[in-house]
Amino acid sequence: MRILLVEDEFDMAAALTTALIRHDIVVDHAPTLEIAQEATRSALYDAVLLDRKLPDGDGLSLIPILRRERAGLPVIVLSALGSPEHRVAGLDNGADDYLAKPFSTDELLARLRAVMRRPPQIGENAVNVARLRFDLNERQAEVEGEPLDLPRRELLALEILVRRAGRTVPRSALEEAVYGYDDEIASNSLDAHISRLRRKLSRAGVEIHAIRGLGYLLRAAA
Ligand code: CA
Repeated sequence: MRILLVEDEFDMAAALTTALIRHDIVVDHAPTLEIAQEATRSALYDAVLLDRKLPDGDGLSLIPILRRERAGLPVIVLSALGSPEHRVAGLDNGADDYLAKPFSTDELLARLRAVMRRPPQIGENAVNVARLRFDLNERQAEVEGEPLDLPRRELLALEILVRRAGRTVPRSALEEAVYGYDDEIASNSLDAHISRLRRKLSRAGVEIHAIRGLGYLLRAAA
């Protein structure tokens, strides 16, 4: 398990890190909101432990940003602001749990286990276009409730088109999403994936429009 600890008090961060490492948890430490955001863009965390009073703002402001990147990411707020009003604000802002300082390591570990046990919230992070539904957590496409079984590259292309539905996705961005660094890209293979996707999506009432010289755009068919 790898977690991100967002905490500006270095003594607190060091003590927590030592305790968590003892339980085979990998801990990355971010002392500011800005560093926390950079960290979540480059690593995939199983959970975030979030202080509130940080040098560049209230930790709660980070929660919607984290959720936009990954809907099901568990967040536990660890804060000296422990009144019922503060806890309510934390939970209403999307925290999965709220632990008032001081707390015991055992309690923190138990709460971490609890939030990790919760199933990801279904439907929380899905995009619907006409009769197509794309679950961004499960990375699964459905047409009228029926799963669409797509080969990997078609799924990757659809994922990025759906994330930016209604906007033009540049060809270069699609190629980056669909192919690895080491893949040889035949000049027309992206277009071949797109035309197969088009056929499979026609019954969903979705079209993938080619924007000449720019890229592709996914939208509900007129
Ligand atoms: Ca603090």
